Amino acid sequence: MSDEANPFESLQEQVDDAAEFLDVEADLLERLKHPERILETNLTVEMDDGSLEVFKAFRSQFNGDRGPYKGGIRYHPGVSRDEVKALSGWMVYKTAVVDVPYGGGKGGIVVDPREYSDAEMERLTRAFAKELRPIIGPNQDIPAPDVNTGQREMNWIKDTYETLENTTAPGVITGKAPDSGGSAGRVEATGRSTMLTAREAFRYLGKDIEGATVAVQGYGNAGSIAARLIEEELGGTVVAASDSSGAIYNPDGFDAAAAKDYKDETGSVTGFDEAEEELTNEELLTLDVDLLIPAALENAIDADLAEEVQADVVVEAANGPITPDADDILTERDVEVFPDILANAGGVTVSYFEWVQNRQRFYWTEQRVNDELERVVTEAFDALTDAYEEKGTPNFRTAAYVVAIERVVKAYQQGGTWP
Ligand code: NAD
Repeated sequence: MSDEANPFESLQEQVDDAAEFLDVEADLLERLKHPERILETNLTVEMDDGSLEVFKAFRSQFNGDRGPYKGGIRYHPGVSRDEVKALSGWMVYKTAVVDVPYGGGKGGIVVDPREYSDAEMERLTRAFAKELRPIIGPNQDIPAPDVNTGQREMNWIKDTYETLENTTAPGVITGKAPDSGGSAGRVEATGRSTMLTAREAFRYLGKDIEGATVAVQGYGNAGSIAARLIEEELGGTVVAASDSSGAIYNPDGFDAAAAKDYKDETGSVTGFDEAEEELTNEELLTLDVDLLIPAALENAIDADLAEEVQADVVVEAANGPITPDADDILTERDVEVFPDILANAGGVTVSYFEWVQNRQRFYWTEQRVNDELERVVTEAFDALTDAYEEKGTPNFRTAAYVVAIERVVKAYQQGGTWP
């Protein structure tokens, strides 16, 4: 993975690229490239042995023109102020491209959760929730899971908020367990939107997805579920998968769900017996496949690697996996990239459905969730390809930003500048 590209600068470049196709004043454009506010906090947490440890944590509220700030909370040693700023900005344009009524936010704690006990992680999560409490709420800012956080952390944050506020407010956070106000279909939602984007992309490009070969970098929540759904619902053949320990490959394909079960049991996909070979992550990213799905972290594909990518189509399940320089090279090389802000937007879309259900205290069936998600993703895909054709953008990413920025600018202008 390259550490050259600063994800916040990547975001700003993506906004600038789209602005060339839009009639947006330079001063207004500045607003679209910077967060409205950032909380930076140092959390003091008691360890199991009685000692104290201090953890740095952030919450960035990038833009609230279209509704409450919305975005996940990441636990990772690589979390930084600029990463959180970038991820919060991508949320603004993601919620806009799928047209759910939210702004964008993101948070994170600099921590490697594998080094701490469950009790320590609970105290750390509750300490963060206490700091977040004044700035989050069902109408203000609604966090959700991201890398290394899931239902467990969301349930703790909800409980801390409700305890301190002396209320019930399940809509303060999404991605909760079903018994704590979570939605059916939320766990699968990100992978499902990646699958739906791949389906629409192949249809749009006139390619057959049945029997198409698929490589997935990052076999976690987003990547493994996308792989399984592409295999089960579209008839694609998953030939390669990776995680932070390495990559596996079988040119004839393997059972995507069994590979995930194996990873859950052993901690990694490496050693899975249906795989014929082990590869490095770079080898996986440059395999000659029909569809490549980067589903790990930012900057997985830099300019050097972009020259070597052999996939015909890339669908981004991760946020920001391709640096702007790499993006230009892939565009020149006619590799069709379908961007993160559409392909992984299923997570925030079903988070929106969860919040709607929490507010109405009326819960939907999984079928209804999946049907509504399919409608949202296909409508967004059509808006993106319309912009691609009408504006003549060089690639689908710029088209997605064109659609999203237009919607954010309209909302801002309708409200006007205050005071
Ligand atoms: P996860 O922790 O479940 O999975 C991440 C996977 O990537 C893990 O298997 C990890 O081993 C692997 N990985 C890490 N570094 C790697 C490397 N260098 N090479 C190969 N594999 C590597 O996280 P997730 O929730 O699936 O999130 C993955 C990406 O999807 C992130 O960019 C996240 O922001 C994005 N995303 C997730 C959701 C969601 O709802 N989970 C929603 C939108 C976007």
